[in-house]
Amino acid sequence: MLVTRFAPSPTGYLHIGGLRTALYNYLYARANGGKFLLRIEDTDLKRNSEEATQAIKEAFAWCKLDHDGEVTYQSRRFEIYKEYVAKLLAEGKAYKCYMSKEELDELRKEQEARKERPKYDNRYRDFTGTPPAGIEPVIRIKAPLSGEILIKDGIKGEVKFKVEDILDDFIIARSDGTPTYNFTVVVDDALMGVTHVIRGDDHLSNTPKQIVLYDALGFKQPEFFHVAMINGEDGKKLSKRHGATDVMEYKHMGYLPEALLNFLVRLGWSHGDDEIFSIEDMLKYFDPHDINKSSSTYNAQKLDWLNAHYIKTLPYERLADEMREFGVDFRALPKGELLLNSLRERSKTLIEMSQSAKAIIDAPTAYDEKAYAKFITPASLEILAKFAEILTLNLDAAGYEKITNEFLEQNGLKLKDLAQALRVALTGSSVSPSIFEVLEVLGSKEIKQRIKNILKERK
Ligand code: GLU
Repeated sequence: MLVTRFAPSPTGYLHIGGLRTALYNYLYARANGGKFLLRIEDTDLKRNSEEATQAIKEAFAWCKLDHDGEVTYQSRRFEIYKEYVAKLLAEGKAYKCYMSKEELDELRKEQEARKERPKYDNRYRDFTGTPPAGIEPVIRIKAPLSGEILIKDGIKGEVKFKVEDILDDFIIARSDGTPTYNFTVVVDDALMGVTHVIRGDDHLSNTPKQIVLYDALGFKQPEFFHVAMINGEDGKKLSKRHGATDVMEYKHMGYLPEALLNFLVRLGWSHGDDEIFSIEDMLKYFDPHDINKSSSTYNAQKLDWLNAHYIKTLPYERLADEMREFGVDFRALPKGELLLNSLRERSKTLIEMSQSAKAIIDAPTAYDEKAYAKFITPASLEILAKFAEILTLNLDAAGYEKITNEFLEQNGLKLKDLAQALRVALTGSSVSPSIFEVLEVLGSKEIKQRIKNILKERK
């Protein structure tokens, strides 16, 4: 069975690069009837926090990326790692190294002076003497001394590393007994049955070490896919400087998870010229072998465009639910569906939609200065007052359009003589969706009240 995983280190919030990696793993597993596992790499007890783990779970829940089975926490697996370290020691594939910190520093200095790559010199590799007193040893793996390590990467193709350039007998357990990062990843991926590892290419240089460990431990290697990074619009690595990178921040800014996932799936992968991908489309078309080799560029406009698309097209009920968190309960409004449908055509984010909705639902407490100066004149106020007189029944948008046109005709006016002033009176500004829809949403009594308010304002 195909098994993928997402293995974040909980050191902060979940950033969008992480979410993209998670999405790719999720899609590949789900599309192939496989499993998608979540492993929290929280062995660094000083840097990890429970809140960060919660933040990851929260982001997964928001995006509906459900993982299979229980979450695996590395911090609860130290006994397992110890067992495998002991096994390698017993088999002579790893050894204790008693080099002190001072000795290691000295070696490093000498190597730097000779302009050599700093690396361990294997001095305890075949040690049989009496260990120096007072030193708790670290455990090192016996890595190959020469040759090549080949990674058959599903995205990058064959990547070869020369042992001399990249490896030494690296540490698998520190002197306090805690295992190192590469060791825990290999043990866990193997024991969890992970068959495909899709992760950021910032991990590519770890992979040769992990391959050495797979071989030493007698585990089968998974297939690797190293995904190129996301850059900011200035070509530099994406960071807070470029705006938000925290997944939940996007929620608070009024983006829909559908839009964010669609945005992320396309950052680094494509299917023809298509831009819009529902989760169903992604499941149909996504294949990690098609992920781009080169890095991708964050494009804020594209995200806005996708968000506008999903705001326009998601079912009313879904959007109405989302909008509650932005302070508007459309379901509780008599004309909620009409209002939402009219606003969704012109909103890039849920925040924008909430602001426009509130501008219509709540009677204005102030008027936009520019709009007021431009459209509220003695003449337009007179027209508004006259218009108020013809309002009796509550009508639908077409009904209001009809009586408005009759009113304009009878008074020898054009729509522009009324519409903008009416918008200012009703919403406080001169931007709103179709004026007739606004009239239907408000109803005659409320329209008259708001016209009365602006007339009072004049004195
Ligand atoms: N824990 C690593 C990280 O957050 C990922 C390890 C992996 O995917 O192999 O970058």
